[in-house]
Amino acid sequence: MALERIEFTKEMKRTHKILLPNMLPIHIGLLSKVFNHHGFNTELLQNNGHNVVECGLKYVHNDTCYPALLVIGQFIDALQSGKYDVHKVALMITQTGGGCRASNYIHLLRKALEKAGFGFVPVISLNFSGMEKNSGFKLSLSFIRKAIACVAYGDLLMTLDNQTKPYETTKGESTALVNDWTTKIADELSKGKGVSFSAIKNNMQTIADDFDKLKINKVPRVKVGIVGEIYVKFSSLANNDLEQFLYEQGCEVMVPGLLGFIYYCIDNIIQDVNLYGGSGAKKKIAEMILNFALKYEKCINDVQNNTKNFIGYANYKTAKELSHDVIGIGCKMGEGWLLPAEMLELIHNGFENIICAQPFGCLPNHIAGKGMIRKIREKYPNANIVPIDYDPGATKVNQENRIKLMLAIAAEQMENKYDTADSQSSEEKILVNN
Ligand code: SF4
Repeated sequence: MALERIEFTKEMKRTHKILLPNMLPIHIGLLSKVFNHHGFNTELLQNNGHNVVECGLKYVHNDTCYPALLVIGQFIDALQSGKYDVHKVALMITQTGGGCRASNYIHLLRKALEKAGFGFVPVISLNFSGMEKNSGFKLSLSFIRKAIACVAYGDLLMTLDNQTKPYETTKGESTALVNDWTTKIADELSKGKGVSFSAIKNNMQTIADDFDKLKINKVPRVKVGIVGEIYVKFSSLANNDLEQFLYEQGCEVMVPGLLGFIYYCIDNIIQDVNLYGGSGAKKKIAEMILNFALKYEKCINDVQNNTKNFIGYANYKTAKELSHDVIGIGCKMGEGWLLPAEMLELIHNGFENIICAQPFGCLPNHIAGKGMIRKIREKYPNANIVPIDYDPGATKVNQENRIKLMLAIAAEQMENKYDTADSQSSEEKILVNN
């Protein structure tokens, strides 16, 4: 029997706290502040550890995708923690609207809440396709513009941080600057500023200039890209703090931003019409939105290329073109063709060492990720790609050992490159601490 949906009412907007799952701390942290400015009371969940996994395993079928298990586990663990008045709490979860199971996490969450005795807790769907509506939660145009700005600012801050952190001479400066700018941007957005395209451009240039002023020591480091299923790729809870581990190994890390995934989702609307027919008007609107949204990526690249220390790496159109050699554009379940496209883009940007983070139960990304590695290697023999599975039974030690093996090959390749170039002293070459 279908569960009754508890609506998030106008009244609840005043009385309830909305809990948000933690996937991308910078982006969702900013978004949370924008929500609060629009009269909501939101909190970004920080609970992690074994309890979250245990809760997920207890209340979600163990055949379910690992991201669903973790998001639901994190919610229920928070509700059981005693920290919240559970009768004054609502939960927010995204619904992608695509053909993949992510569109149905919300139903799994409701089922799990019922099982855990929290069936009365309202669940809000965050989606842009009108899938579920709540009288107390309506997305205004002003909010949508601010949300897109949060994604763009978040991508810039994340990229600058990634390019600074491994080289900073005073540890912690880059993180401090990210926190500082997150607060400043949230303040601006709450005053309705920093949203227009010109304001975003100005702010982004100031942010990039601030990062450019940090003292860095640009010694050669092994460059590692991270791709994979969107939640596992970004969430430290899901990938066992993968980025931190790589920093501790002395690497420079690059994680393709969230904008690319948004472009991919819009582009899929266009490709659906191209491949299977459908509304020409819908396609036209999607094309207009995509062309407009691509300006954010250009802005992020331009401001970085206008500094002395940074490079704008993201290029959605190039990545898409590169993918044509290995996968069809109709492959769009999960991250679909975007996954190999991001690997190819990383390789083109000098990140030949790649970790493909794959969750348990994720058939689409095993096909579009792991399944494409051989084809990519045939074209780029130096590509050093390792697929890592993330699931409740996988141990961190095993994952890290496999990554260390990949880093050992990366270090060797880097040494060979320097030997050929014969340009550096041997001590400076390898900074990977195996
Ligand atoms: S992409 Fe993979 S993990 Fe995400 S919903 Fe689809 S099957 Fe599950």
